[in-house]
Amino acid sequence: MGVERILRGVLNYRHSVQKLFQYELRDIKSHPNPSAVFISCMDARLFPNDFTLTKAGDMYVMRNAGNMAPPDELGRGATAAGVELGCIHNDIKDVIICGHSDCKAMALLWKLRDTIDTQRPDALSEWVRKYGRSSLKHYLAERDAQPMKFRSPIEGQSISAHIDPDKRYQPHDQLSQVHCLQQMINLTTYPFLSERLLQRRVRLSAMWFDVDSADVYMFSRATERFLVICEDNIEKLLPEPL
Ligand SMILES: [Zn+2]
Repeated sequence: MGVERILRGVLNYRHSVQKLFQYELRDIKSHPNPSAVFISCMDARLFPNDFTLTKAGDMYVMRNAGNMAPPDELGRGATAAGVELGCIHNDIKDVIICGHSDCKAMALLWKLRDTIDTQRPDALSEWVRKYGRSSLKHYLAERDAQPMKFRSPIEGQSISAHIDPDKRYQPHDQLSQVHCLQQMINLTTYPFLSERLLQRRVRLSAMWFDVDSADVYMFSRATERFLVICEDNIEKLLPEPL
């Protein structure tokens, strides 16, 4: 297993779909038309191209532990650079943050709740503590508020949200949904996005994947909650045209 499995996969790819893929890539190069920048957790069960039925050329996908999109004041790292590449250099209009249930990074963040202000020697704890801290503090302060408020420095970008109104999820799953919305707010602190957000030339969204049901949720600003993406909800979830 391990890399052997990956190598055998590449061999099978060479014998099966490589030629077709080569033609697709040529077509993408001459007609690039990516739809979104998609920022998700790196969890092995979360496969954005699978549950959105997208393929090469459709999305810029960035993944990290806990789908972090740090605010501008914490330094411009991989997420800010990737969003700039997508939205500014390639004029992509949609940025989607995607979290999921049973997220190990969010479970760790929840576990650190009593010592969140203490620096950590190990990389994952420090990563989660540093970039998840604002989500945790927000959740702890407002978890009983209905709705929770997420304030953005950009007009029209603040969010009100009823998190898990049916009380179906564990605290770390509720925290994960709060965290997705907090990352949307973090994106609004990027100076290179502010004008596009104000002029509604860029749109921010949050999705959430339930690893038990494999259902995909999207946050609805109109109903102020995550709704499962299905035929009954699609009208409420389709955003206004940009
Ligand atoms: Zn995760």
